[in-house]
Amino acid sequence: MSISAEEALEKLAKGNLEYHYSSSITSDVSKEMMSSVRQGQDPFAVVIACSDSRVVPEKIFNAEIGDIFVIQGAGNLVCDVALGSVEYAITNLGTKLVVVLGHSGCGAIRAALETEGPGRDTITRTVKAAIGGETDRERATKLNMIAGFRNVMSNETFRRMAAEEGVGVVCGYYKVSLGLVDFLSKRSMMRYDPGLDLSAYVELSGGEIPTNI
Ligand SMILES: [Zn+2]
Repeated sequence: MSISAEEALEKLAKGNLEYHYSSSITSDVSKEMMSSVRQGQDPFAVVIACSDSRVVPEKIFNAEIGDIFVIQGAGNLVCDVALGSVEYAITNLGTKLVVVLGHSGCGAIRAALETEGPGRDTITRTVKAAIGGETDRERATKLNMIAGFRNVMSNETFRRMAAEEGVGVVCGYYKVSLGLVDFLSKRSMMRYDPGLDLSAYVELSGGEIPTNI
């Protein structure tokens, strides 16, 4: 039985603080751990992250094997394939929380900002559509995350699972140099609400340390 979306978010935030404040993190790779996941998986969160080699969800959330269902691709885009993986996790594995995780210094965002016109490759075109005329890299990164957030919230399976099972979605902005994740939509997460105005979150600076855990 998977934990609730709220509990999952608290667990991720707590794990990230442990990562931020620790000089070393050890992961349990014991034979007992391997054996415990032999029969199946029960991840408590889905994380849609960038392929950037500095963004390693299991490490930055101080999570163990079997804890996080990770979907990675350049620019953390929430495309149809990513949504298919989200649908699998929330309907088959009982996972209640989805995180769209952007990060500082993202090369996919930089490429979109430096490209004139619509862009030649799929990733640049998708990011440019998400960020519009934005020129600031951090704000553009957050707009791209918010586009992904909306894609998750618009997904029919997600909406059904949100209504019936309490599945939720949040955005997280990972500051690579600090090792900190700022959950931008934490305050008004996360139930499906087509009228939710997320543009305000673009104004938030990253690196905000949560105080309520
Ligand atoms: Zn990136």
